Amino acid sequence: MSDARPPQDDRPSLWRDLVAGQLGFIPRLALSFTSAVLVTAGLLLGLAMIQQVRHVWVDDVSIGAGLAVIVWIGTLVWLWRGYPRYRRIIRATLLCLGIWTAVIVACVAASMATWEEEFWIAGFIFLGFAATFIVITASAYGGSRGRPIASSKGGVNVSCVQCGYSMMGLNDCTCPECGRRYTIDELIVLQDYEAIRRGAGGAPAPDAPSPERSQ
Ligand SMILES: [Zn+2]
Repeated sequence: MSDARPPQDDRPSLWRDLVAGQLGFIPRLALSFTSAVLVTAGLLLGLAMIQQVRHVWVDDVSIGAGLAVIVWIGTLVWLWRGYPRYRRIIRATLLCLGIWTAVIVACVAASMATWEEEFWIAGFIFLGFAATFIVITASAYGGSRGRPIASSKGGVNVSCVQCGYSMMGLNDCTCPECGRRYTIDELIVLQDYEAIRRGAGGAPAPDAPSPERSQ
């Protein structure tokens, strides 16, 4: 009777893969956008609640935006943990952080330089979004391509996904640099080889767009 349905664990679950850090590139990217929108919604609703009590000052917006960025970065770190090439994501995140720091500085400067700052602030915020989308698109393009198996030095491209240390020529699967231990299959799958992405199921990012078209 209870055998009529497959056990819960056999069905794909976005949430379970998310918690396990095993999502592919595209779902993580979509969730990163979702978290940005959610954090912005939280910021706006928070400001709306403040407005119920008192006037909302520019400082409230700046502090709120700063907090929102910190929360978003934290969400990104959680969303992208366990991703095979997470350093690319960290680079993109740092760029976004820089962009939004510049946006906040520009908004504060505009609010100090003029009494009619609304259009300035709105313009800077949209510039920030445009720059963020460019960074994320560039990162997505890079992330849509797997690594080659052969290294330019003539060996097999194998490195620790946690610290980037080259693990070529080692006798076991423990990174001598950071100490992370891998099983041999885990180490291979985490290398994110283009050949595995194209050929085999169970690759880290099977939903990534096919690279042939972009060549
Ligand atoms: Zn390492």
